[in-house]
Amino acid sequence: MPIYEYQCENCSHMFETLVLGKDTEAPACEKCGSRRVVRRISAANTIGGSSRGMNAACTPNPSSGFS
Ligand SMILES: [Zn+2]
Repeated sequence: MPIYEYQCENCSHMFETLVLGKDTEAPACEKCGSRRVVRRISAANTIGGSSRGMNAACTPNPSSGFS
């Protein structure tokens, strides 16, 4: 069952929606109710792909500066 991730263009709130039909209308933002939402890639793929990059980018460099 496909789960689509949407991001609201009005308030930038991101939310996931389970889609039963093959081509449904974009849902309203669950936070502000705006219909201006954009569909993103499925959540499972984006989480798996981006987390490694984020970890590498967020890893601090502990060696320089203090000794
Ligand atoms: Zn919104």
